[in-house]
Amino acid sequence: MFENPVLTGALILVLAAILYAAGVYLYFYKRQHFVCPKCGYAFKPKLLRMIFSVNAVSGKIIRCPHCNQKEYMEPVADSRRKGERL
Ligand SMILES: [Zn+2]
Repeated sequence: MFENPVLTGALILVLAAILYAAGVYLYFYKRQHFVCPKCGYAFKPKLLRMIFSVNAVSGKIIRCPHCNQKEYMEPVADSRRKGERL
């Protein structure tokens, strides 16, 4: 199964990319959320919506579940009051 070094390398690269994406999403869900610029609604979108939404600059173009507007939003850090260091 692992006798082909090119295939093994490609497999490792794919796995690394998946792990990296999982890490980014995990970080987002643990530490960040989006705030709708139209109505100010703060939310964490569904994972599938995150994956299939359009990436733009450092944020995403995503639909607000409250006012249903498609807007560009940047991730905002969750409140740091829960015993987190500054
Ligand atoms: Zn909204």
